[in-house]
Amino acid sequence: MKLIMYSVRDAEKPYVEAWTKKTGNDVKMVTEPLNADTVKLAEGYDGVSLQQTAKLGDKKLYEQLAAMGIKQLAARMVGVDIFDLDACKANGIIVTNVPIYSPRAIAEMGVTQAMYLLRRIGEFEQRMSHGDFRWSDDLISNEIYNLTVGIIGLGNIGGATAQIYKALGAKVLSYDPSYNVEYEPYVEYTDFDTVVKNADILSLHTPLLPSTENMIAAPQFKMMKDSAYLINMARGKLVNTADLISALENKEIAGAGLDTLADETSFFGKQVSSDQIPDDYKKLAAMPNVLVTPHVAFLTETSIRNMVEISLNDAVTILEGKHSRNEIRM
Ligand code: NAD
Repeated sequence: MKLIMYSVRDAEKPYVEAWTKKTGNDVKMVTEPLNADTVKLAEGYDGVSLQQTAKLGDKKLYEQLAAMGIKQLAARMVGVDIFDLDACKANGIIVTNVPIYSPRAIAEMGVTQAMYLLRRIGEFEQRMSHGDFRWSDDLISNEIYNLTVGIIGLGNIGGATAQIYKALGAKVLSYDPSYNVEYEPYVEYTDFDTVVKNADILSLHTPLLPSTENMIAAPQFKMMKDSAYLINMARGKLVNTADLISALENKEIAGAGLDTLADETSFFGKQVSSDQIPDDYKKLAAMPNVLVTPHVAFLTETSIRNMVEISLNDAVTILEGKHSRNEIRM
């Protein structure tokens, strides 16, 4: 097969080259995203792989792709909201995504942040920057095997997180409305409030849904132990940011590790000037007991390799007339 791959990043190239060598297919890599100007590059190719945030809202683009004989679009990402799925269906174009590329990547980032916070590293760093190298009693840490970890949302990432904490010796409590027997060896399922009240580390791994938005707000911060750390590797809007800042200022919790923020889209993944950085971020980043990373928990070699390989394998599967489990229902 001859495929064209849009928005290729340098980090992806070795994995694409390895895949073409392994499978005998050809891939033309271009750095531009798919759009009205670049759609013509797909002429002469059998299939398309892409990864971009720019929406493909113009129906004409799908007609052009169909006229060139393109029958599938393989997204190297989870979200498919960039596509006009009705236009895809109308033009006989099947869309695939990569819903699971490396749960461990996100799980390990959450655990890494929790350990950094637990050992009070940011607080030591802040004091050392002022010449204070003392062993202060107020910065005595805890060891994970003595702690209770609460996991809200026990899916692929929550499950991988639970396995790591269990391996470190922690007691792991979890709330998820859907029970998964696979995780029984690692967690004790219980109700939401019990997890929130008992967790020394509260780790969020649910999707953002109307039912999960603001699931951690003032009432939950009041329920949490004042020695507890909140870890949010899922979606910023699961947490009420204003309430989080108040809870930290009032010492209702000990700290927070955040890979996502409610208003992140205006600056995460971008180079911005100081006046473009939201005040909430500035307040959080100034706290030594808070860690913020710009939605990079997924950013590992394994994730990149899997996104490339799964998307290209799916493109070929669809072009061979077979079904992929990653096909988007339209
Ligand atoms: P998943 O679908 O495998 O698991 C989500 C789990 O949440 C499911 O088991 C579901 O039953 C549960 N759930 C739904 N509503 C709930 C509720 N009200 N209370 C408790 N549990 C609830 O998804 P996943 O692959 O584990 O991903 C989880 C989330 O992680 C994603 O939705 C995404 O927001 C986030 N994510 C973040 C990054 C990153 O780089 N930071 C990368 C990928 C995914």
